[in-house]
Amino acid sequence: MKWVFRTLGLLALILGALLAVMAWRASGVGTQEAAVAPAPKIDIDAQAAAQRLAGAVRFKTISYDNKPDSSGDEFLALHDYLEKTFPAAHKAMKREKVGQFSLLYTWQGSDTSLKPIMLMAHQDVVPIAPGTEQNWQHEPFSGDIADGFVWGRGAWDDKSNLLAVLEAVEKLAASGAQPKRTIYLASGHDEEVGGPRGATAIAKLLDQRGVKLEFVIDEGMIVTSGVVPGVEKPVALIGLAEKGSVTVSIAAEGAPGHSSMPPARSQIGEVAEAVAKLETNQMPSSLQGVARESLEALAPNMGGLNRLILSNLWITEPLARAALSKSTAAAAMMRTSTALTVFNAGEKSNVLPARAEALVNFRVAPGDSIESVMQHVRYTIGNPLLKTATIGVARGPSPVSPSDSEAYRLIERTIRETIPEAVIAPGLVIAGTDSRQMSGLTTNVYRFLPVRAKPEDLPRFHGTNERIGVENYAEVVRFFHRLISVSAIEGK
Ligand SMILES: [Zn+2]
Repeated sequence: MKWVFRTLGLLALILGALLAVMAWRASGVGTQEAAVAPAPKIDIDAQAAAQRLAGAVRFKTISYDNKPDSSGDEFLALHDYLEKTFPAAHKAMKREKVGQFSLLYTWQGSDTSLKPIMLMAHQDVVPIAPGTEQNWQHEPFSGDIADGFVWGRGAWDDKSNLLAVLEAVEKLAASGAQPKRTIYLASGHDEEVGGPRGATAIAKLLDQRGVKLEFVIDEGMIVTSGVVPGVEKPVALIGLAEKGSVTVSIAAEGAPGHSSMPPARSQIGEVAEAVAKLETNQMPSSLQGVARESLEALAPNMGGLNRLILSNLWITEPLARAALSKSTAAAAMMRTSTALTVFNAGEKSNVLPARAEALVNFRVAPGDSIESVMQHVRYTIGNPLLKTATIGVARGPSPVSPSDSEAYRLIERTIRETIPEAVIAPGLVIAGTDSRQMSGLTTNVYRFLPVRAKPEDLPRFHGTNERIGVENYAEVVRFFHRLISVSAIEGK
C-alpha cells in the first residue's frame, strides 16, 4: 500500500505546482501593459466636425447587389463635397479617381526611404432594409444631429472613418505640416458588395507602380463596452485577419412524381438530411492563432475563474473551447461557421419536386480554405448522389498580420494615448473589409476604427438608427491625427 501513498503524494505535489503556475500566469505578472502618457489633446471643434460628417451622410452613396455603380451621381457629388469641405487637405494631396468612383489620395513624403502608410475608408453604404424606414428616429439620410449623435446610414460605417481621416489631414495640412513618410488614403466605392471595382483596382494600380506599404489600417473592429464577457473596461480590438466566405449549393435531382406514390427517398429528404448533418457536425473549433492571442491578451483584465482559465490555455484549452462554444460570437471566432441560408424545393403540395437545393454559407477561419470546406461538406454529407458546388465569389481567409510588428505597436500605442482607459487586444474580423485586397502590398494589414459601441448599439451596424456620438467622433479624429503625426509627419 505504501506505493499508493507515495503516488498520491507525488500527484498532490504536481497538482500543487500546477495550480501555482496557473495562479502565477493568471496574476498577469509579465503581461502588465506599459504605461503610456496621453497624447497632447489637440483642439477639435466637435460640433463643427460633426456638421461636416453629417453633410457627407446626406449623399445616398448606396451599393446594391447586382446594380454596379447605380449611385454614380451621388459619389461624384460626395467627391465635390469633400473637396470643398477639406480645402487644405485637397491642396496638399494628389487625388486620383480609380474605377470611376473610388478615390486614391497621395500625400507625398520627403523621405522616400520610408515605406508609405495607407488609411482606408469606404464611401458606399448598405441600403435601408425595405419596410424599416419608419423605424428610424431620424430619416436615414437626414444627417440630423440630435441628442449628442450624428444620425444616418454611414454615420458609423464608414463615413465616420473617411471624414475623420480627412479632418486629421486637413488640420495637419492647414498647420503647414509636411510628411516625411508618404500617406495614401484609399477610399473604395463598392466595399459593401465585395470591392470588385474599387479597392481591387487601387491595389492593382499601386502594385503596378511597385509600391510596398509599411502598414494599412481600415475599418473592421471597434471599441466596445459590455460586449466582451468579464471585462468591465472598454475593449479595443485590432483586427489581424478576416474570415473568408464561400456559399455551397447542395442539390438533389431526379424525376418528379405524384405524392400518392412517393419513393422511399425524396429529393427534399436527401437534401434535408445533408444540411441537417452539416449543422450538427460543424467544422472543428480551435483556440490557436488569432483567437488564442486575443483571449490571452484579454485574460488579465477579467476576474475570477475566467481569468484563471484563459490565462492557462496551455492546459485549459478543451475546457475553454467547450465553454466558449456556447456563445455564437465566440464560436464564430474559433471556427469556420456554417449557416443554412436558402432552401428551394417544391411548388405544389401533391407533387414531388424533381429538384431540391439548399445553400449553405461558410465563413472561413484562418487555417481553413475553400478546399478544406468542400472536403468537409462532401465527407459530412457522405452521399455521392448529391451535387455540391460553390456559388458566386468564394474567398479564402486573409493572411494573419503579426501582432509584434512596429506598425501594430504604433496602433496600440496610439489607442493607449487617445483612449487611455481601453483594454487593447488583437482580434479576428468575422466579416469582410476592403483591406484584404492590400495583402500583396504589405504583411501589416490592421483593422481598427475607434467607434464606441455598447451591446445595444451593435444592431445599428447595417441596421436601423445607425449613429455615432459627437464626442466619440472627435475622439476618432484625434486618433487619426496622432497616428498620422507620429508615423508620417515625424516619420517614426
Ligand atoms: Zn464598412
